[in-house]
Amino acid sequence: MATAKRFPASLKAATAPQRELLMPQRHLRQATADAAKLVRPSGTGLDSGAVRERMVSRLRAEGKFDERVLAAMAMVPRHEFVDSALAAQAYEDTALPIGHGQTISKPSVVGHMLGLLFAGQGAQQRGSLGRVLEIGTGCGYQAAVIALLARQVTSIERLQGLHEKARSHLQRIALQRSHPAPRLIWGDGRVGHAASGPFDSIIAAAGGEDIPPAWLEQLAPGGRLVAPTVSGRGQVLVVLDHLREGGVSRWVRSEHEAVLFVPLKSGVV
Ligand code: SAH
Repeated sequence: MATAKRFPASLKAATAPQRELLMPQRHLRQATADAAKLVRPSGTGLDSGAVRERMVSRLRAEGKFDERVLAAMAMVPRHEFVDSALAAQAYEDTALPIGHGQTISKPSVVGHMLGLLFAGQGAQQRGSLGRVLEIGTGCGYQAAVIALLARQVTSIERLQGLHEKARSHLQRIALQRSHPAPRLIWGDGRVGHAASGPFDSIIAAAGGEDIPPAWLEQLAPGGRLVAPTVSGRGQVLVVLDHLREGGVSRWVRSEHEAVLFVPLKSGVV
């Protein structure tokens, strides 16, 4: 296992492509079965920063993650976002059930997607993700990580039970006062949240057949969107950049690795 290291002074964006299939939100039964097999971390209490550092060190050893994102992940107690029966597995690189038939994304996938957002032109210049829209709050973990990297976070969840769970998780972990508390919305993320926009960064934690038009409308010039979306080769991570030159907007789309996210559904429950 890699040993914990201090963060280097120069922070570099991760650009290396990931080749393996990312499976952040595997089917619930599989995630539950895998969780049961995992070995409990020993030696350190889950509240200790050392346990988070170890998770981050293992990701860092892969050499493809943005240091700013890793630093934020080292600060968020992931075990506070899952049921206590699964807390011991919270620092493994695995998806875990969070109730309501949904799963918390794998840490490596959270890290990879936030790294892609940071590599966008606007975020590079700003050194921050700016105003962020997250679709699919789930248990609230990724929203907590984003809050450490952004100026404002709006996160939408369509399942009221999870929306409320995320609220209580985020209240329990006190983010530093210098960071914004995520604004949690119970609603259909396919329509975005125009009242909080426009957004510099949009990230979806659920995969749709297409990119909903509202997301493009609410993406600010210079902004970047990362969303799992169905393409000719199945579900892949799609990156969309809103470029604006001479008063004219255009959206540049690129497709990245194959992924397997829970479906982006319509309506609220
Ligand atoms: N970021 C989350 C991962 C959540 S899993 C975390 O850190 O835990 C994806 C979530 O997207 C699920 O909770 C699912 O209910 C939600 N979802 C799916 N379609 C949605 C929609 N149209 N609007 C808002 N949330 C949606």
